[in-house]
Amino acid sequence: MSETFYGSDFEALAAFDPDIAGVLTGELGRLRGGLQLIASENFSSPEVLTALGSTLSNKYAEGYPGRRYYGGCAEVDVAEELAIERCKALFGADHANVQPHSGASANQAVYGAFLKPGETILAMSLPHGGHLTHGTKVSFSGKWFDAVHYGVDKETEDVDYDEVERLAREHRPKVILAGGSAIPRTIDFARFRAIADEVGAIFWVDAAHFIGLVAGKAIPSPVPYADVVSFTTHKVLRGPRSGAIVCTEEHRAAIDKAVFPMMQGGPQMHTIAAKAVNFKECATPEYAEYARQVVANAAVLAETLGEHGIRPTTGGTDTHLSLHDLQGVLVTGADAEARCDAAGITLNKNAIPFDPQKPNIASGIRVGTPCVTTQGMGEDEMRRVAALIARAVVDGDADPEHAVSREVRGAVTELVDAFPAYPRPARG
Ligand SMILES: *Cc1c(COP(=O)(O)O)cnc(C)c1O
Repeated sequence: MSETFYGSDFEALAAFDPDIAGVLTGELGRLRGGLQLIASENFSSPEVLTALGSTLSNKYAEGYPGRRYYGGCAEVDVAEELAIERCKALFGADHANVQPHSGASANQAVYGAFLKPGETILAMSLPHGGHLTHGTKVSFSGKWFDAVHYGVDKETEDVDYDEVERLAREHRPKVILAGGSAIPRTIDFARFRAIADEVGAIFWVDAAHFIGLVAGKAIPSPVPYADVVSFTTHKVLRGPRSGAIVCTEEHRAAIDKAVFPMMQGGPQMHTIAAKAVNFKECATPEYAEYARQVVANAAVLAETLGEHGIRPTTGGTDTHLSLHDLQGVLVTGADAEARCDAAGITLNKNAIPFDPQKPNIASGIRVGTPCVTTQGMGEDEMRRVAALIARAVVDGDADPEHAVSREVRGAVTELVDAFPAYPRPARG
């Protein structure tokens, strides 16, 4: 490189602040040292991380490209225009707003664009797989808006579309919201669109979890059906920790005004540049192959866990995640999480539909394949991972020194050494 690049001088940071340098290396060691099965996490590329660690973080750029409230925005305008154009092309959308700081911020803006306080939204309930920002009482969304919730069908354990239709007719919501954080199956967007049209509602999809699979064309896209789609950029998509919104031309002005100035101040231009890099990555054949493999891996992981007595809800998955009922092996979600943690496997306890346990105990676990697939693992490795999870959950212990914890941890180490996250030597 002909020019010093400021933003990735680890030696200088380590010399000045060994405490924080130690956290950075410790976290990298944690990522490399175990199996990361949290369905909402991924490992973004060194290129994305480089854009994040850049001097673009310094720039104030309130407003939008070409219409800023600050001078000196020529360079960052290029980054935001590229991010917008790449995002629109990736999803075939009329309009993209790439400024939301996170998934929750993107959702806040959608509420701001379409609803006044007290108006009604129809969304998936949290205990059945929705999200905090979909009208729960502890969130702004439940405090300021009137939220009506649908759930899953008791038999299929998948979205109860008849209930969506019934509640839409009864409550006439201003907005109908599809999506959530623990929905293993693809969503019938056409059915939602028809229900929204019948009652004159805006149809909003929160695609935070699965948008990466849409980008890689591994599952159907909500974009042709929805008025507005909000999402995070750091889950399967594999970009920086952030959010974005795409919408039809009709809603362009409402969305842009709701993101800024209604909900946010200055955009994070380093993160927007990193989103641009990520959108470019997502348009490659390699990324499409990655998305396809994420889904194939999730299907095998879910099926094999089922063979070990850890039943997948809905009978499996179409996406990157599965939700498992532990009642058959008589272990709680909290115990399963702790036992896996002691064995080098990071996953989360999760409520299952109609869960008899309290949410902080739960009867289920949620697992996802974005991270392990980024590491290069395939279906054979997923069978091995399922066996290790089952061993830890059924026979293991929360004590890392327990014989089963040690045994599983040894096997996990072998596996992650063969498929390293952030392989050495690191670039940059
Ligand atoms: C993760 C997620 C969000 C929130 O994203 P943050 O970046 O954590 O704010 C919103 N909606 C759904 C469905 C999610 O899964």
